[in-house]
Amino acid sequence: MRHLIDPTDLTVKEIDEILALAEDIIANRAKYSEALKGKKLATLFYEPSTRTRLSFTSAMLELGGQVIGFSDANSSSAFKGETVADTVRVIRCFADIIAMRHYKEGAPLVASQYAGIPVINAGDGSHAHPTQTLTDLLTIKREKGHFDNLTVGFCGDLKFGRTVHSLIKALSRYTGIKVILISPEELRLPDYMLHEMADNSNLEFREVRTMEEVMPELDVLYMTRVQKERFLDDEEFDRVKDSFVLDPEKLLSAKKDMIILHPLPRINEITRSVDNDPRAAYFRQVENGKFVRMALIYTLLKWADENKPFEHTPVFNEEYVISDDLRCGNHSCISTTEDVDHIFRKGSDGMCRCAYCEAKAK
Ligand code: ASP
Repeated sequence: MRHLIDPTDLTVKEIDEILALAEDIIANRAKYSEALKGKKLATLFYEPSTRTRLSFTSAMLELGGQVIGFSDANSSSAFKGETVADTVRVIRCFADIIAMRHYKEGAPLVASQYAGIPVINAGDGSHAHPTQTLTDLLTIKREKGHFDNLTVGFCGDLKFGRTVHSLIKALSRYTGIKVILISPEELRLPDYMLHEMADNSNLEFREVRTMEEVMPELDVLYMTRVQKERFLDDEEFDRVKDSFVLDPEKLLSAKKDMIILHPLPRINEITRSVDNDPRAAYFRQVENGKFVRMALIYTLLKWADENKPFEHTPVFNEEYVISDDLRCGNHSCISTTEDVDHIFRKGSDGMCRCAYCEAKAK
């Protein structure tokens, strides 16, 4: 059974196929209007969402399918203490595919072990957001025409921004990609990501503290909001919340064909006056999200019918160990609150990392 929990669950070729299907859907909407008639998508959203949930809903409806689900953990049995594993074993009796968003990192991975139907990670804590990545890739493809040899600046909250983590992982598989990380010290990328990037000889990256110093180099500027809900300390949030603001003046030195992406919601990190700049692609990006989710749901259901296996089995291959002695060191990981197998992967740095959230083991 194929799921999409991490962007690397898909090979580059499979991503290309999904993007090509999304483009075919855009060009031939009517052809797909009954493609998933009789199929049901369950949207299990334990955390707030506007775009992602409605985009999944609208994607399924436009394929002729139906949608059930909840948009608030308090209106589900999670409120009574039901585990993710039990909830999805129930949902599989009602739906053909699940899109899950959860505030605990690794929850969709746990769900995928018990669901018996395809599970899509619609965002888990500050860890990953692979369908936003597909959205970002489709936008880059449509706006720039290619992925290779791009210089991409990621600006803002790189620590808690799950969309950043997933897009960097996906881009690092193309050639000639240069990543520039623009953040205050407090919001640097998590160290598992920095290690992975340092290990990848294919990828060039550097960290800077202002966007002005790198603006002329960028082909893509990926802006993000500071993720207020993930801070444990209000004072720290107040200190960094206004770190970066993109305005027309800062764009003066940017390339004429640079594109500005943002997974949205935008708070104050892009001024309204940037919206009319043709380089501002963030609202076009939202629409691409619906089409790419149509392509993904369609593909995963097709693969489920065909019993298509993963090319590289995530989590349960020989790189992973189940351990009684190790524990995940991340308080936001699902393995710290639910009764799950404690699974770890030994990295090239000799460090054991949690399979659910990639944080260091204790
Ligand atoms: N909508 C994106 C997410 O769910 C970005 C954000 O919330 O800032 O991660």
